[in-house]
Amino acid sequence: MVGTDPYPFEGACPRWRTVDKKFIEQMKTKLIKEKERLEAELKQMQEASQSATMSEQAGENDYEDSFADTGSATFERERDDSLGWNVKDLLYQVKQALHSIDEGTYGICSNCHEPIKKARLQALPYTDTCVSCREKQER
Ligand SMILES: [Zn+2]
Repeated sequence: MVGTDPYPFEGACPRWRTVDKKFIEQMKTKLIKEKERLEAELKQMQEASQSATMSEQAGENDYEDSFADTGSATFERERDDSLGWNVKDLLYQVKQALHSIDEGTYGICSNCHEPIKKARLQALPYTDTCVSCREKQER
């Protein structure tokens, strides 16, 4: 990369100049680590839910009398699923952020197209909205 411009489309996006490349590289490293962590977590959860299904089937007769009518076993399963969905959602956002680094649009708010503050990106490297747009969305 030395001596060459890694972002040939820089001229096409004047605001890109406000985001420095060294910072983007730091965020990219963070995002790759986060992606690996999330993928490992997701794999662990999938394995855990598989073994949970097996032990549930093995202990089916014990549960039948006490829990058959309360539906608490179903509740546990639903909670686990939503947890898995959050990790998947996060992983998706991390992948999108890595993609936007390749596209040269990282650090730009997807809503108002203003640069996102560095402090926000450091706290949430996979975010694609600035603080003010985020607040508007949450309202
Ligand atoms: Zn915005």
